[in-house]
Amino acid sequence: MTALAEQVAIITGASRGIGRATALALAATGVKVVVNYAQSGAAAEALAADINQGGGTALALQGDVSQNEAVDALFAKTLDQWGRIDILVNNAGITRDGLLLRMKLEDWQAVIDLNLTGVFLCAKAASKVMLKQKSGRIINITSVAGLGGNPGQANYSAAKAGVVGFTKTAARELASRGITVNAVAPGFIATDMTQDLKAEPILASIPLGRYGQPEEVAGMIRFLATDPAAAYITGQTFNVDGGMIMF
Ligand code: NAP
Repeated sequence: MTALAEQVAIITGASRGIGRATALALAATGVKVVVNYAQSGAAAEALAADINQGGGTALALQGDVSQNEAVDALFAKTLDQWGRIDILVNNAGITRDGLLLRMKLEDWQAVIDLNLTGVFLCAKAASKVMLKQKSGRIINITSVAGLGGNPGQANYSAAKAGVVGFTKTAARELASRGITVNAVAPGFIATDMTQDLKAEPILASIPLGRYGQPEEVAGMIRFLATDPAAAYITGQTFNVDGGMIMF
């Protein structure tokens, strides 16, 4: 595998939360990082500037990764800039919660379009490049909701369960070409996504008794991107959830 300092990572949805922490964690290892975002341009540019001023290398690139053309443009710009793509972290995600009986089709569709179709589009674009390079790491962010279900999240848990199945199939298809594909399933992590949720019932379901921090998820993602430490791991889903789900 290529030396870390020559590697390039695309992290989707890196302007905030887990994606932001992942961009910082990977940049700290010397990897060049693309900080993708949809709307938070100022936050993404500020993060890229922080990384660059701290001795790392980062580029903020806008792109709605639920859209095929935007994904193609994101990957083309990355290749123009750095000529290779070694790591893809499919992190961008949204929630549009509501009980099944009241869930609008548009809320179902928006979540599937980004949280599942976006993963497919980016993994497809990345694998084209990685197949030529004969190496790569694809890391998909799923959720405990995709493993155990969660009332009010039929759309989200369906998309995240889909990501687990997608991860296994992509891992089988790409293994012979030196590309690993794994998933990370966070539990409740303190980000904008979870800030409006009521803490008490959730905390009672977490053996470690607290929300996770974005950096704690980023640590697992960084490990899965590392060579040779994670070279023999593919098709797996790793929970970072304070013990919420134990198989
Ligand atoms: P967050 O703080 O809400 O951040 C979401 C990120 O996704 C932002 O950077 C946002 O960019 C980006 N994004 C949204 N729509 C996008 C699009 N169409 N194209 C590209 N980027 C887009 O979320 P988070 O909590 O860090 O979650 C990150 C991932 O972890 C998601 O896949 C989520 O489902 C998963 N997860 C989170 C938790 C949790 O407890 N937080 C638990 C399990 C799984 P803008 O700022 O530009 O909108």
